Amino acid sequence: MARYIGALCRICRREGEKLFLKGDRCYTEKCAVERRKYPPGQHGQGFRKLSDYGIQLREKQKVRKMYGLLEKQFRRYFYEAERKKGITGEVLLQLIESRLDTIVFRMGFAPNRRRARQIIGHGHIMVNGKEVNLPSYSVKGGDVVEVKEVSRDMPEIADSLAKGEHRGIPGWVEVDSPNFRGKVSHIPSRDEIQLPVQEQLIIELYSK
Ligand code: SF4
Repeated sequence: MARYIGALCRICRREGEKLFLKGDRCYTEKCAVERRKYPPGQHGQGFRKLSDYGIQLREKQKVRKMYGLLEKQFRRYFYEAERKKGITGEVLLQLIESRLDTIVFRMGFAPNRRRARQIIGHGHIMVNGKEVNLPSYSVKGGDVVEVKEVSRDMPEIADSLAKGEHRGIPGWVEVDSPNFRGKVSHIPSRDEIQLPVQEQLIIELYSK
């Protein structure tokens, strides 16, 4: 699968917001967005007025990059959200927030979504007692996600769990750190998905 291998901080600077793509560094003053609040590149500090289309596009790119999704995958989530009952923007965020890679990150088993995808892909994660190695696996309310017993001595996972509270664990997941296990108590509502995102702009973009 195609993936971005460039500098992650450039992505945040391009969007002008912290997208928390790295891990610990994102929570320190070393964060590139904290230090240089302008887009990267030669013309980064120049004045730029965005059109309505540009504003919608940037909002979509921000969410897509925050979750590390390709355009095709992201659009597929939009179509799925459109077909489901409910407010399309909220359903879209719920669908991407329920991905196993995001849940593993939210529970603190990985420092960021990118690393969560690798941990899942390498077979270290189980859902309801069965190994799942698909980062896009859709987790449901009540599902139990845990690190395999043989993988629990991986220093990175233990370290990430120890720092999980500092990063903030959302209220809709219950984490049992000593047992490397967590439960998704329910799929979060829009208010619980604390993202600085105007999802309506994304819906408008894709509805053109
Ligand atoms: Fe983004 Fe983290 Fe880099 Fe800050 S440190 S710019 S939040 S990836």
